[in-house]
Amino acid sequence: MGRYPLGENASLPVSLFYNLMSQSEKVEIVMRGIAASPGVAHGPAFLFLQKEVEIPSYEIPEQGRGFELARFEQAILETRMQISAMRNEIASELGEEEAQIFDAHLLVLDDKALLEETVHEVENSGLNIEYCVHKVITRYIEAFASIDDDYIKERVTDIRDVSRRLLRNLMGHADFSFSKLAENKIIVSEDLTPSETANLEKGTVLAFVTDEGSSTSHVSIMARSIEVPAVVALHTITSQVHTGDTLLVDGYEGLVILNPTEARLQRYGRIKLEKEQLQQVYQSEACKPAETRDGQSLVLMANIEGVTPPDRLIKYGAQGVGLFRTESIFLRDMSFPDEETQFQIYKSYVEQLNPQSVFIRTLDLGGDKSTDGKYFPDNEGNPFMGFRAIRFCLEQPEIFKDQLRAILRSSAYGKTKIMYPMISGLPELLAANKILEEAKEDLLERGQAFDPHIQVGSMIEIPSAAYTSDLLAEHCQFFSIGTNDLIQYMLAVDRVNDRIAHLYQPNHPAVIRIIKAVIDSAHKKGIPVGICGEMACDPLYAPLLIGMGADELSLMPVRIPEIKYLLRKIKMSDARSLVEKVINYGDAQTIYDTLRQFYLDHVNITNA
Ligand code: PEP
Ligand code: MG
Repeated sequence: MGRYPLGENASLPVSLFYNLMSQSEKVEIVMRGIAASPGVAHGPAFLFLQKEVEIPSYEIPEQGRGFELARFEQAILETRMQISAMRNEIASELGEEEAQIFDAHLLVLDDKALLEETVHEVENSGLNIEYCVHKVITRYIEAFASIDDDYIKERVTDIRDVSRRLLRNLMGHADFSFSKLAENKIIVSEDLTPSETANLEKGTVLAFVTDEGSSTSHVSIMARSIEVPAVVALHTITSQVHTGDTLLVDGYEGLVILNPTEARLQRYGRIKLEKEQLQQVYQSEACKPAETRDGQSLVLMANIEGVTPPDRLIKYGAQGVGLFRTESIFLRDMSFPDEETQFQIYKSYVEQLNPQSVFIRTLDLGGDKSTDGKYFPDNEGNPFMGFRAIRFCLEQPEIFKDQLRAILRSSAYGKTKIMYPMISGLPELLAANKILEEAKEDLLERGQAFDPHIQVGSMIEIPSAAYTSDLLAEHCQFFSIGTNDLIQYMLAVDRVNDRIAHLYQPNHPAVIRIIKAVIDSAHKKGIPVGICGEMACDPLYAPLLIGMGADELSLMPVRIPEIKYLLRKIKMSDARSLVEKVINYGDAQTIYDTLRQFYLDHVNITNA
């Protein structure tokens, strides 16, 4: 820092100062993670940190202290503006009383003693402003915390909240209004929660790159849903990248390049063009019939989070919605919308996609998709095995019934189907069906229309459900296999733990066998089976799944054209032979190699 004329720059905005500083020091760094969503993006990074921020400590030469104080002033201004904006938002949405908490926060920023002490600390210690702010505030918090008084204790919480925000602003990663900050930026984060990404739409954010995650973690699914590139499991990217740094994201290969060279940018320009041309080839077949070369009809549907408009689904050639992840609606507002609000959302899809079907999955909240501490435990040891989905709905029948009535009402406008997530056995399916019957009675009493023959299905994503699928099939009209969860529970591999991502194997013989067994048992009972996990989007597995007899594949909308293109190139008889071969293999690698060879034999992508 001492190399720069800090005194002269003291009035410069902080971001401009950092830009000046980094001009001469750009070294290209390539980082490798897991490719989570395809595409190439190039642009400025925005560091969005969740966990406690580590406070840097370094000496500031005497002539630089004016600049430190100017940064302090600027951060206070920014923090005040953010808090006031939040205050106004809360006041208009919830009322003045709720907004008063932010008045207390603003008072902390006006506290003369605290501000003066911080200035003295900079002058006396000669250390950077972040360190000094942290030190003074910690002193305050410790002093207040030792006083046994509820009012004072609350002030400690206020001071802690404000100081966190202030420090983040000082270090260039403010955290308010995520969707606004994300605009035209590459979001760099440890991980992103469902609620942070729930409001994002296509075109708002350039890309996601995260330290944690896997290809089936929430942020990856969301990135594919809003069609932005993403690379996850980079481990240390949040400590290597600062807000404003230039990044290049390669969501095909799982690479992130900090300070890309001109030559690399040009190469990626060509790659992007080639991929776009390929997508155009796929897209040109999107509206052709979904059928194999030997004339077997297929059904390719869309997985949605409620952000993809129905007309875009039609453009991609989706034959309806095979999985509507309704929890996204709840996560967007972090609350439970009433029946009417839900009804309007479901109806809009059902009506516009009619006569195609819309499979609406009831709430799969909880686990990694929890909303609050009120309904869901804050810190479950094993969230994926915890209080989630149907377990929650059966304990909260009123919330469940609101949703069921909304879905039922939408069925008066087109073909709606209901499916329950995380069914582990027959009693849960029967209990859910019982509540559904009560919801139907409510509507009959109110005189509101619904399809009395609405079909109900069970998701098969827990091994216990798979092994009792013959019993479940007696009480529902279809199955939908959620391979994302089924794989994690079959193999005891947490689907979001990148440390063991190599063990998360769709090509594991047990996974292949259990999917085949579920399809066979459903067909024996005369009910159809869809596959809605990420396996269905994978060109290696799609032929295998249809060869096993899956009646529908439900995919990320943007992947439908590619999978349709592929399936139109193969014969169903070949897909069936592939299954016969693979089902007897005992090791995952041989299965993978065989699937890959099948793919290469059937699709010459370079000549597409
Ligand atoms: C699945 O588990 O495969 C699935 C489709 O559900 P989700 O990814 O939403 O858990
Ligand atoms: Mg699931």
